[in-house]
Amino acid sequence: MTARTHDGFAFASLLTIATLYPPASLNLLTVGASIIGNIIGALIPDMDQAGNRLWDLLPGGDSLGKIFRQIFYKHRTITHSLLGVFLIYKGLNWLLPKFLNASFIDPQMIFISIMIGYLSHLLADAFTKEGLPLLFPIPINFGLPPIAVLRITTDSWVETYIVQPGIGIYLIWFITTHQSQVLSLIQLIRQLPT
Ligand SMILES: [Zn+2]
Repeated sequence: MTARTHDGFAFASLLTIATLYPPASLNLLTVGASIIGNIIGALIPDMDQAGNRLWDLLPGGDSLGKIFRQIFYKHRTITHSLLGVFLIYKGLNWLLPKFLNASFIDPQMIFISIMIGYLSHLLADAFTKEGLPLLFPIPINFGLPPIAVLRITTDSWVETYIVQPGIGIYLIWFITTHQSQVLSLIQLIRQLPT
């Protein structure tokens, strides 16, 4: 799937989970950082491609991206596997509390938002022809549905004209059918401590 589809799918997943399982408290900085973290999480699995948008956001990202591409000899390997999920889970759990000031921002919320982005990426890629090497380094690819011919080709008209508008329609449907829950989620947002 393309980065645009992954962004949309990640945001729809974040909003759905946050609405159905609202956090106890929420401040504005945490909301902003969660949305950005969610998008970053959705783009991390494709960092094995030099063209990934995340590289453009980093200084010197172009050359870094090229080096990375040489490390990952092939697209969709460890970053699209259960081992990758485990490593990112452990890595973020260790890293985030170290540089996020917990009195202003909730590291746990940022962590969950990035993981939702990451997992939503893998779920979306499961619907593509290539499938996912979930058991990497064992070279077996999994997909939904299991028969590859029935799956979506990345960047095809199905993705552009059916999947992407489908995400938009889902968001409108979800917000209309869960209005009171979405509103109470917004009402949870409190001012930052000053
Ligand atoms: Zn991918």
